[in-house]
Amino acid sequence: MVFPFLKKKKSPIWDRILDDDSTRLRLKYDTYYPIFDRQAGTRVFKDGKEYVMLSSNDYLGLSHHPKIKEAGAQALKNWGSSTTGARLANGGRAFHRELEEALASFLGKESCHVFSAGYLACVSAITGFVGRKDIILADKNLHSSLWSGIKLSGAQCERFAHNHPAHLREILESEDPNAGKAVVIEGIYSMEGHIARLPELLEICQEFKSFVILDDAHGFGVLGGEGRGTADHFGLTDEIDVICGSFSKSLSGIGGFVASSTDAIEYLRSHSKQTIFSAALTPASCACAHAALDLMKNEPQHRERLFKNLARYNSLLKELNLDTWNSEAPAVPIVLGEKEKVYYFWKALLEKGVYSVISIAPGVPPGKDLIRTAISAAHTDEDLDRIEEAMRYAVTKI
Ligand code: PMP
Repeated sequence: MVFPFLKKKKSPIWDRILDDDSTRLRLKYDTYYPIFDRQAGTRVFKDGKEYVMLSSNDYLGLSHHPKIKEAGAQALKNWGSSTTGARLANGGRAFHRELEEALASFLGKESCHVFSAGYLACVSAITGFVGRKDIILADKNLHSSLWSGIKLSGAQCERFAHNHPAHLREILESEDPNAGKAVVIEGIYSMEGHIARLPELLEICQEFKSFVILDDAHGFGVLGGEGRGTADHFGLTDEIDVICGSFSKSLSGIGGFVASSTDAIEYLRSHSKQTIFSAALTPASCACAHAALDLMKNEPQHRERLFKNLARYNSLLKELNLDTWNSEAPAVPIVLGEKEKVYYFWKALLEKGVYSVISIAPGVPPGKDLIRTAISAAHTDEDLDRIEEAMRYAVTKI
């Protein structure tokens, strides 16, 4: 029975929900949130049609590796589905510590803390260390998780032009020299595929005594010796205070990490609401990430294949005169500049059996509307043939 006085009155929030242009357009054009009925490696299936997946971040192509599947299944069997609580409340488990030690050592840091999502880890990498009296200097093109962390930290935030050391310096020169300052950057920028200009940026950070937070979600597994990431690629790991990242790219899993000195990680465990009040990473997720990390170290063929695939893909896009925003990474945008063009290009790829994702302003800067693609080591020669045919067709449609 519904009590008459409890009958919901329309509210401004419901008005907004029921009259939202973004949602209406998304549903009309059916551009996001597809549900695939089945997946076999890089192939996904929907309504009887098969697509090559070209927008997953499975860079090393490990998501179906038998050793990872086996590790996940064993962990589920031994430890159950979840520890059902935050680690502060009902403790971590041996598998958390083992993964954290392995990650810290791989990254060249003393300690590490893992989270149940990369997003949470990146928020925590900021809120865990930076407070309202500090100043954050943020690259203009940061990922949403970092903006969330910046907002939650309550710190004053100044944005510097994307990957632009001179502009960072200009801003730092105008700030109070005694204030706590944190510079937030990414190793490889997720949308653009740009590698951070770390040597120049870090020199400035040292000069102005800035704490440095690097989100290496897309550099981890791709750059550096054995895939140790962007800091390792430049030999500058010691110069970076905090490295955070995600398991959902090269590690083909789910979860995230923050790595730093032991003092800093213990400090984070005392102060980060994202770990104090959120349940621990599951046994299966931990085991899968750990198995993927072992593969990263022991099976270099995946990275080799990734770069081979990427070279073929880039030369195709170049031949077709497509603007890839000078991407230097397996995350490859195809910048078309107008949302209508993006839509027709995306539709043409779909027609030819290739699944990609549209990214338009405000998700990207105005005039940079793009198709976001990502190459994987798991893409076979046949997949790349299909992608080539689809791209050649799509350019005729814009
Ligand atoms: N940082 C960056 C740069 C990312 O691209 C992403 C995911 N797209 C995240 C953080 C969040 O990671 P996750 O998806 O694992 O939550």
